Amino acid sequence: MINADEIAGILKQQIQSARTQMREDEVGTVIEVGDSIARVYSLTSVELGELVQFPKGVFGIAFNLEEDNVGVVVMGSDVHIREGDTVRRTGRIVSVPVGDAVVGRVLDPLGQPLDDKGPVATTRTRPIETQAPSVVQRQPVSQPLQTGIKAIDGLVPIGKGQRELIIGDRQTGKTALAIDAIINQKGKNVICIYVAIGQKTSTVAQLYKILTDAGAMDFTTIVAANAADPASLRYIAPYAGCAMGQEFMYQGKDVLIVYDDLSKHAQAYREISLVLRRPPGREAYPGDIFYLHSRLLERAAKLSEELGAGSMTALPLIETQQGDVSAYIPTNLISITDGQIYLETSLFYSGVRPAIDVGLSVSRVGGAAQTKAMKAVAGQLRLELSQYRDLAAFSKLSSDLDKATQAQLSRGEKITETLKQPQFEPLELDREVIQIYVAVRDFLADVPTERIREFQRQFYEFLQTAYPDIPKTIVERKELPDELRANLDKAVGEFKQRFAQAPAA
Ligand code: ATP
Ligand code: MG
Repeated sequence: MINADEIAGILKQQIQSARTQMREDEVGTVIEVGDSIARVYSLTSVELGELVQFPKGVFGIAFNLEEDNVGVVVMGSDVHIREGDTVRRTGRIVSVPVGDAVVGRVLDPLGQPLDDKGPVATTRTRPIETQAPSVVQRQPVSQPLQTGIKAIDGLVPIGKGQRELIIGDRQTGKTALAIDAIINQKGKNVICIYVAIGQKTSTVAQLYKILTDAGAMDFTTIVAANAADPASLRYIAPYAGCAMGQEFMYQGKDVLIVYDDLSKHAQAYREISLVLRRPPGREAYPGDIFYLHSRLLERAAKLSEELGAGSMTALPLIETQQGDVSAYIPTNLISITDGQIYLETSLFYSGVRPAIDVGLSVSRVGGAAQTKAMKAVAGQLRLELSQYRDLAAFSKLSSDLDKATQAQLSRGEKITETLKQPQFEPLELDREVIQIYVAVRDFLADVPTERIREFQRQFYEFLQTAYPDIPKTIVERKELPDELRANLDKAVGEFKQRFAQAPAA
């Protein structure tokens, strides 16, 4: 039996309770707008960082809560916002789409597509600002994240969950290193996120093409806020990328995130702060600039077993001016991260590429994550190189050197040559280990420096046909046992005879 009165009663009740209370403090009025900042009057209950809505679907973030007004950073163009416009609270903070649907996409920091693949097919979102995992939610870094770059995997190894700064002047190959590290994750079950901050749109388009051609877009997301985008978007870009990464990390997956670069991020934040008339501090940055980057990088972690043991490894990039690593932002970042890879202009121009200064580059936790195979050769590598550096500086002063010194100098030179690596050619563990082994065991003494690359390449090809077990064992067992070394020594001996007879290519 349907009772009409009862239904009408329920409906009335529903309507009454559904009638939303439009409270006065939920709506405000724009009193001033310009430079992507709107000052809003009477939005008194808004929370810090809350998303607010202007007419015509433009959003903003409540940034400055002052006594008589709220400073709102407009996300996007502010040309359609006028004095007197109403501003509404949303009760949410900025969220971005997350999950498998973002993989392979190029998105802006609000999760809107910048590619031509249509809307992001997911309803799952995550707030861009969240608290970093706590002490008990983490575990120490213990697994290697292979970058495929000999000098990094050998000398400044990176572990899953680590934060390693890539620092150097402009045009020293910072982006190249990060991109190679992403390309090297192919087939390794690592999801990559590349956050482009304040770069030229054409540069990002080029990167997209490089990653696509390398087959890396299958597991990579690009989050881009380009040079022409408003400072607000450049400011939130890394947090948005980080939220996308965290989703995968909490699913128990491994993530590699690149922030390219945080100098431009700091500048975007400075721009916003100055327009909001916050007091400028050192280098005109606002007082909370340290927190800007620490809260971002603290979100990279290796999670505990209970939380699924996922990880997020962060590679922030930072640009220095004339090699000045003691400037404000670089020192902040050096202290926040677990080590830095320092790229040197003079090395870059003298042809040592990647231009890693092995003396200034460190990895504070990665050693624990290095594979046994790499550890077996890396110890000697570091030692040889540091001795070479000392000698090379010293030998410039004296002309006649004894035999032993000459031999050491030449060995150092050959090791340096071995560590050079062209772009877009990350190497698998076995190749890295074999090449470094051959160099530090002094097998290159009688190979002319200009033929080293050719030697290393041909030797690996020779191994694959004549001794396929050696590379296979290194890849499978990730170690370099004694019997394998003996075999490797034998193989080098055999190959050297052939190589000496072959004409230089
Ligand atoms: P920017 O400051 O402009 O962002 P960057 O430090 O990111 O520069 P890249 O753009 O990565 O530097 O590299 C600068 C140039 O050096 C590029 O033309 C790149 O192709 C070249 N390059 C980088 N690494 C290598 C390498 N290992 N071998 C040869 N060329 C390289
Ligand atoms: Mg770059």
